[in-house]
Amino acid sequence: MRYVSTRGQAPSLGFEDTMLTGLARDGGLYVPETVPVLSEGDIATLAGLSYEEVAQRIMWPFVSEAFAEDEFAEMIARAYAGFGHAARAPLVQLGPNHHLLELFHGPTLAFKDFAMQLIGQMFEHVLTRRGDRVTIVGATSGDTGSAAIEAFRGLDAVDVFILYPHGRVSEVQRRQMTTPSEANVHALALTGHFDDCQARVKDMFNDFPFRDRVGLAGVNSINFARVLAQVVYYFTSAVSLGAPHRPVSFTVPTGNFGDVFAGHIAKRMGLPIEKLVVATNQNDILHRCLTTGEYRPGTVTPSISPSMDIQVSSNFERALHLAYGGDGAAIAQLMDELKGGGFTVSQGALQALREVYVSGRVSEEETSETIQTALAQTGELLCPHSAVGVKVAEALLGATPMVTLATAHPAKFPDAVEAATGVRPALPPRMADLFERDERITRVENDLAAVEAVIDERRAA
Ligand SMILES: *Cc1c(COP(=O)(O)O)cnc(C)c1O
Repeated sequence: MRYVSTRGQAPSLGFEDTMLTGLARDGGLYVPETVPVLSEGDIATLAGLSYEEVAQRIMWPFVSEAFAEDEFAEMIARAYAGFGHAARAPLVQLGPNHHLLELFHGPTLAFKDFAMQLIGQMFEHVLTRRGDRVTIVGATSGDTGSAAIEAFRGLDAVDVFILYPHGRVSEVQRRQMTTPSEANVHALALTGHFDDCQARVKDMFNDFPFRDRVGLAGVNSINFARVLAQVVYYFTSAVSLGAPHRPVSFTVPTGNFGDVFAGHIAKRMGLPIEKLVVATNQNDILHRCLTTGEYRPGTVTPSISPSMDIQVSSNFERALHLAYGGDGAAIAQLMDELKGGGFTVSQGALQALREVYVSGRVSEEETSETIQTALAQTGELLCPHSAVGVKVAEALLGATPMVTLATAHPAKFPDAVEAATGVRPALPPRMADLFERDERITRVENDLAAVEAVIDERRAA
């Protein structure tokens, strides 16, 4: 399978190079040239299989040129072995026709582990085979960074540098990034917001001499391999609720649009998804765009669901690319306009987006109330991100089963959960000593040269 850039000006690549490259050299994001479609019969046979078996069947057509089948099965097995739940992504019922997909049983308690643990295995495999070494840089609003550091700590062929916004991640998130002691992982506290971190990462990818010198690789959700790994749990959950014979809808707490876009891929693969619901907090650019067609970033307002505090939602470019019928020149033009402040989605493309996506926005107050009422009515303790999803989903419940993605464990955001309910959620026993471990933090200014200097100095030559 070939992968092409959303902006149409970079060379097409196979899976291995797509994964190692991250951002395309024309500034675009890689997407599969064609999406394989499963028949109803294919989907029906997924019922009753383990998470790992479904993962193998769903991802195989995308990666088959890069790995042998049994090698890939081993990578999947290793990736999910450290999860704290045998089902990996269990479903629990919240109410009539409303289900919660618990994606927080991985080692860092957020859904990012599903993709990152597998990417760690795939990078190690590919780089060892090539005798190569890379420098991974990533921007995080908290969860990507901890998941990446956890997945890559101690690997020989990679140095990992994670930029997070200083003072704007939860203490559990920060400690998950700053306490691993392996010499190849580095948490950099940048003076700024998540969007600044993400912008500096993009700048590094566009600094070709630096990019080539350090062997830059990216594991943000701009990396298609991340999106791919997330397609799997749409299938496992939909099939357990009756797909392909019964349609299902999903509500997805959304920031960078990677998770919900994985649902879009699942739909294109033939999974009967009626609606994909984009749930945002007060940083609602996606909700505004899907409502009005205007994509104009404002300023980020910090919230109690910090992993969604985003105004430039990178993966939305992939959805736009589909909505514009794969017209790379049109996407390049929109992204140029974005530099000047924003763009207007064409009527045709907006209509195409609305055929797939619905959206909703939740205030801080509603988020807290939802955490409280969910606990009272179902006994479920929700993290604030999951609560944003539940609130938006509740307004859309109907005849079609709704699955809301629970993107993090409540113990990752204990202050917000305690403020809402009076209950302080406990960390799972396997990470109970997190607050006793020593931290390593490097402060860095929001400046490309300063960030690059730290990376040059710290990485193993
Ligand atoms: C990353 C994250 C999100 C947003 O996911 P995107 O793929 O960026 O849309 C939501 N909730 C939590 C807990 C996250 O870590």
